Amino acid sequence: MIGINENYLKLRAGYLFPEIGRRIRAFKQEHPGAKVISMGIGDVTQPLAPAVIEAMHRAVDEMGRQETFRGYDDSGVGYEFLRVAIVENDFAARGVILDLEEVFVSDGAKSDTGNMQEIFGVENVVAVADPVYPVYVDTNVMAGRTGGEGVSPLRAEGILPSDRGQDARATKKQGQDARATSGGQYAGIVYMPATAENGFVPAPPERPVDMIYLCFPNNPTGAVASKEDLARWVDYARANKAVIFFDAAYEAYIKDPALPHSIYEIEGAREVAIEFRSCSKTAGFTGVRCAYSIVPKQLKAYTRDGRAVQVNPIWRRRHTTKFNGVSYISQRGAEATYSAPGKRQVQQTIDLYMANASLIRDTLTKLGYAVYGGLNAPYIWVRTPKGLGSWKFFDLLLNKANVVCTPGAGFGPAGEGYVRLTAFGLPQNVKEALDRFARL
Ligand code: PLP
Repeated sequence: MIGINENYLKLRAGYLFPEIGRRIRAFKQEHPGAKVISMGIGDVTQPLAPAVIEAMHRAVDEMGRQETFRGYDDSGVGYEFLRVAIVENDFAARGVILDLEEVFVSDGAKSDTGNMQEIFGVENVVAVADPVYPVYVDTNVMAGRTGGEGVSPLRAEGILPSDRGQDARATKKQGQDARATSGGQYAGIVYMPATAENGFVPAPPERPVDMIYLCFPNNPTGAVASKEDLARWVDYARANKAVIFFDAAYEAYIKDPALPHSIYEIEGAREVAIEFRSCSKTAGFTGVRCAYSIVPKQLKAYTRDGRAVQVNPIWRRRHTTKFNGVSYISQRGAEATYSAPGKRQVQQTIDLYMANASLIRDTLTKLGYAVYGGLNAPYIWVRTPKGLGSWKFFDLLLNKANVVCTPGAGFGPAGEGYVRLTAFGLPQNVKEALDRFARL
């Protein structure tokens, strides 16, 4: 009898975006003429930079000629031309000197933040912020790090049910369920609330944890961490022999020159941190795919009997065993984002999105909303008015203004009472959506 990996049965059904989609479809069916504007889903809208397109065209031509055709990238970790460009532009330019062997090119920060946990022990305690980018939690659930054996709600129901109403039912059998069902949290994970009171930057927990996921600039709150904030985390990780997974997918949106772009700008971080970067939001590569991770050679993890082991060669073994490289064409496109015209063009697109962010912030502030983020991040975190729940406000906005937001509760219980707006829309749509906000 073939057994299933029961950890997968502990996952919450993909809830947030399918539910948003369902509500939009229902609304459109009832109001076929309505022009719905989405400020909800975090995909980019602007086309690729001309320098990227030219580089990718050249790469396609190379692939069509016998002399310049490329098959597998033998290194398995990214062409040297791209790793050199990364090390020089993203790090050396900020005073961080990295070795080329510390750079691992991949197809996305989603895969990297999801896969990296595999090389660490299953007994490690995981800490995440609440609200959180769901990939960090779900991949640890799949790995069995959420504590104990669970009777999954999915299994109990015999099918993959809709997640709606499931929490209440699941709460009744909490004793058996590995998932702490209040708000869909898991008993084995340490959640660190990110609230207005702590500026949406949680402090390290009192108890020791082993694997810490940090994301700055943050999705969904748009919060950023100062050097002092990150230094506290690095100190904590060093004291507790923990590892920090630092997701910097949105670092290109940082405008304040005092803010760190990389965790390696903090003294001692190389001993305890892995960093994730992506061309997705930086250069509009969501449909092209190119990203990278930095695994420093100084980073150590420990065997059960306390022996220190270098993490870098273990990730190299994992990466080159399970992944066969990013396409040559994508890597040439990514390299072009570091050329002088490429940098200029990429920055223009980021400026366009950040002009959207400013407009959203300013307009909503004038309308009396409490607004966070959007200064150094493409996400704006908005307190719902009059204590409305985030799904209630979502419905109100959809029905009265035909504007789509993302309910904060979908990212975790501490997101209740907030919605996330993104700055990735077309400027004319953002303006129109804000006019409708004003008429609400
Ligand atoms: N990390 C965060 C915080 C994100 O918000 C996203 C995408 O929305 C990703 C990673 C995924 O990026 P990629 O397209 O490189 O997989």
